[in-house]
Amino acid sequence: MSADKKTVANSTDSVHAGVPVTRPHHSLGLSIEPTATFTFANTAELERYMRGEDPDPNREEYGRYGNPTVCELERRVADLELAEDGVAFSSGMAAIATAVLSLVKAGEHIVLFRDGYRRTRQLVTQTLARFGVEHSIVPSGDLSAMSAALRDNTRLVIAESPTNPHVFCVDLSELANIVKARGRIRTLVDSTLATPINCRPLEFGVDLVVHSATKSLAGHNDVLGGVVVGPQHLISLLRDARGVLGSVLDPHAAFLIARGLKTLGLRTERQNTSALAIARALEAHPRVERVFYPLLESHPSHPAARAQMRGGGFMVSFIVKGGRSAASRVIDAVKIPKIAASMGGVETLIEQPAIMSYSELSEEELANVGINPALVRLSVGIEDTADLVQDLLQGLSA
Ligand code: PLP
Repeated sequence: MSADKKTVANSTDSVHAGVPVTRPHHSLGLSIEPTATFTFANTAELERYMRGEDPDPNREEYGRYGNPTVCELERRVADLELAEDGVAFSSGMAAIATAVLSLVKAGEHIVLFRDGYRRTRQLVTQTLARFGVEHSIVPSGDLSAMSAALRDNTRLVIAESPTNPHVFCVDLSELANIVKARGRIRTLVDSTLATPINCRPLEFGVDLVVHSATKSLAGHNDVLGGVVVGPQHLISLLRDARGVLGSVLDPHAAFLIARGLKTLGLRTERQNTSALAIARALEAHPRVERVFYPLLESHPSHPAARAQMRGGGFMVSFIVKGGRSAASRVIDAVKIPKIAASMGGVETLIEQPAIMSYSELSEEELANVGINPALVRLSVGIEDTADLVQDLLQGLSA
């Protein structure tokens, strides 16, 4: 295993990283700046700003180009990921779409993994294909296949670690090394399921990290957002593209995400503990056929997870013996988890991909994308570990 464990963020970072030492009016908390535009006292001040000579480096011109509340969120996520810079968007998909559109053009080629988030796959295989961007899809975590798929016109490799719902972790250093050796190709890693508390992909040499901030960063299932972090020259490209595409985050939403970030460390530690306990309890249960959790020795990507993650994260998936309806019965029998899409928040959420995110697929198509009809996906919240384990065990016995 080439990936040595690097540093991760902790609760102290969650509370303090990227927070300015002083604020207007000596406030402790971040203020929301609900403004569409910003004023200039006179034309000389405007001209100085336009020449990039304004004494305030954080001054903004118009809400689509920046907002102080949003800027603080961007700084904080960048600091949590040890990145030079960050840029926030109205959703995780807005972040991914803006990043991909900034990095490739017609005639160029993208490589992605088969078990990536299905909307990201759709963006590349359907939307961008209409504009002449080529792609190759390689098996989950298969770096030899990824390497073989690289072409002279490849400009971007998109990966997720862990993936959703099979929580497959890709060896990030090996991925970055293979891609760097080819030159001119960027790596974009969706680290939504890891969070900077469990893994900082930039430390392994990837170029850009994206988060659906809707999930763990905000953490309360009450807001949508996305953030990309990385080197300043690439983030500037994305910020320019955001100004063109208009995929901006509202300052009220930025405030909610920034407030949620304060407890990211605490929440993630609880989720790591509970999810591992649940995964082990499920693995020992006679009605469970298979459990997917990165820190279980039985998971095929366990070595990569051990090498690069502090904890296994909030998602546990499992296959219930007895097929599709048996899995549905377990979901209906548990009392604490709510049946809902999304993940990473304080409430435990449960879903059956075959009848939710992949409901349009036939049994044969489900098999092709590797989704077992009896697969249950659990996003572990911050309820008491013992309550969650007990509830799942009673649900399985029902
Ligand atoms: N990345 C991953 C791994 C996701 O699971 C999701 C959504 O579920 C997204 C990105 C998209 O994020 P959003 O829903 O904030 O647009």
